Amino acid sequence: MNRTGPSSIRCESSSTPVIEQLDHDHTRTTRLGSLSAAIALVAACPPNAPYNPPWNSNWKPDGTDHNYLISSAFNNSLENNSINHGMDQVNRSVLNASTSATWIDVRVIQAALTGSAGDYRCVENHSNGTCHLSTIRIDTDIGTAGATEAYWKAVVCHEMGHSSGIGERASNAPSCIACPATSAYKSFDSNEVTVINSHFPS
Ligand SMILES: [Zn+2]
Repeated sequence: MNRTGPSSIRCESSSTPVIEQLDHDHTRTTRLGSLSAAIALVAACPPNAPYNPPWNSNWKPDGTDHNYLISSAFNNSLENNSINHGMDQVNRSVLNASTSATWIDVRVIQAALTGSAGDYRCVENHSNGTCHLSTIRIDTDIGTAGATEAYWKAVVCHEMGHSSGIGERASNAPSCIACPATSAYKSFDSNEVTVINSHFPS
């Protein structure tokens, strides 16, 4: 998800599958570009929240053990609370989110993002299309830029939702997966849990 400031955020588009699948780094889009490019991203958001959240098969985890390697850069309570909140959301589904000391599934790091609060990309797929290794980047402003903990919980929830295979939802979706996410909704809604579970039948 992208933002121009804590209270003015932009977001990714799910209707640009090449970008979404190959490079979810929308800071690159920002760097390339132009205001018109930024507007195009926003305009590409779906107009209405679908009942069933979009599924991005390229982001499907390669199993139900969902390990997060958390950078030691997350070292204050707001950051840790936000990370734990995101993992709690994943754990509402059949995915078993836990931390790991090595990069098994998802790496969560901080990066100085330009015009962006966070992003997600799958960096290595299996031949069957599931995602083996992925990276969530959270802006280094987390915990320091004055945005609320609720906002950062929404940001982390949003990216961890992508790491669970959920694509963008419309801005009026009552969920952290809304495009753009806001501090008003910092959790998955029940539809997202249902959709994740439908892809990982127990
Ligand atoms: Zn997104």
